[in-house]
Amino acid sequence: MFYRTLEEFKNASGYTVGSVWYPRVTAIVGMKAKPGLYKFYAEQESFEAGEAVKAKSAEEGTLTHDTVEAILRGESPVIPETIKPVIEAFFNFLNSNKVEAKLIEERLISNKYRYSGTMDVLAEINGRLGVLDVKTSYSIFRDYGIQTSAYVEALNERKNLPELTRWILRLDQSQKCLKCPAVLRTKGGNIKVRGEKNFCNHEWSEMIGEAELKELPPYQKDFNAFLACKTLWEWENEFWLSRINY
Ligand SMILES: [Zn+2]
Repeated sequence: MFYRTLEEFKNASGYTVGSVWYPRVTAIVGMKAKPGLYKFYAEQESFEAGEAVKAKSAEEGTLTHDTVEAILRGESPVIPETIKPVIEAFFNFLNSNKVEAKLIEERLISNKYRYSGTMDVLAEINGRLGVLDVKTSYSIFRDYGIQTSAYVEALNERKNLPELTRWILRLDQSQKCLKCPAVLRTKGGNIKVRGEKNFCNHEWSEMIGEAELKELPPYQKDFNAFLACKTLWEWENEFWLSRINY
């Protein structure tokens, strides 16, 4: 990444809490390469077109996030037409599990390892307490564990909490072919068909929402990977970090 000024670097990659600047969890996690991204860009008309799809897709993800968090706060937000199926799936998830949000969009700090991040939700699900991270993706990727491990460590530094678990709640919506296993997703205006085995003159269902909860293993291994990302991130940004009292 290129930054013109120290302020730009600090704003883009961290938070200032009190008088201390902390690098942001998502900036650190971003150091890990994502080979899937190359494939995504290769399928786009141009780099700029890919950037536009990514930006729009992020906007859609934020809309789902904000709506879900409002519901968890006990509010009754207006549900935009475009995300009705996925929110319906989220309501089904709430109805079939005992879910209580303890903290939502909470800023967390690790003073021990010096970083900061904003956790989606600290939740109690069916009697157990853990970090709940909401993803709007077609699958649950192992990488997600790196981000949530950083939140668990920061929460552990607060000391007054029992042992925490971690979950990914994947919320998505797609259309299924009525004649074969293919699935069609529309993300950021980009249409993608997955799971096609044979030629099929697809016949698509209505948009169907999905809510998949997955518990992640104990966080230590993922946290080691997070610290490795952080070491690499510090190396990459040495120029700027040497200009602050880091
Ligand atoms: Zn088909």
